[in-house]
Amino acid sequence: MSILTALEKRSSNKCELCAATNDLMEFEVAESLEDASVENHALICKTCHSDIMSEEHNFNHWRCLNESMWSEHKAVQVLSYRILDMIGSESWANELKEQMYLEEDTLNWAKRGIASKLKVLDSNGSQLFAGDSVTLIKDLDVKGGGFTAKRGTKVTGIRLTDDPGYIEGRVGGQMIVLKVEFLKKS
Ligand SMILES: [Zn+2]
Repeated sequence: MSILTALEKRSSNKCELCAATNDLMEFEVAESLEDASVENHALICKTCHSDIMSEEHNFNHWRCLNESMWSEHKAVQVLSYRILDMIGSESWANELKEQMYLEEDTLNWAKRGIASKLKVLDSNGSQLFAGDSVTLIKDLDVKGGGFTAKRGTKVTGIRLTDDPGYIEGRVGGQMIVLKVEFLKKS
């Protein structure tokens, strides 16, 4: 069964964002760590698609996310989260985004797509993504941790933050915030 057919079946031939029944297409929700499959696609309509691709947004159209954000399908959750983030200048959109509860993996997936716009760069200018490993390039005092993270310490499975100057990672069993200028991708 093709991805499109599987999506049509899953959604009963409706846009998984706004429930429209015309001009439906498969849409790959980027930055998934999984191989391409129905799980990282959503079925969306032309109206939703062109708004996602556009620089200007029809905010009222996206009131539909009020429902689709509760979808059981992760790809639809991720897409809803990213669209709410994209139109976050609208306070209602921001509020909906805050209400979303995503599992950690799903949230990381959602943020990877947003982060690729933010461009988090290490000390060498290499772009960092959620899940990357980095190495400390100097000794760092961990505020509140009462220890020094040594130069050369490897931090695996980093998380991105809302600030491109910082990432989060686990050092000595503690989740701490690290400045990207003291890191290099490993
Ligand atoms: Zn739609």
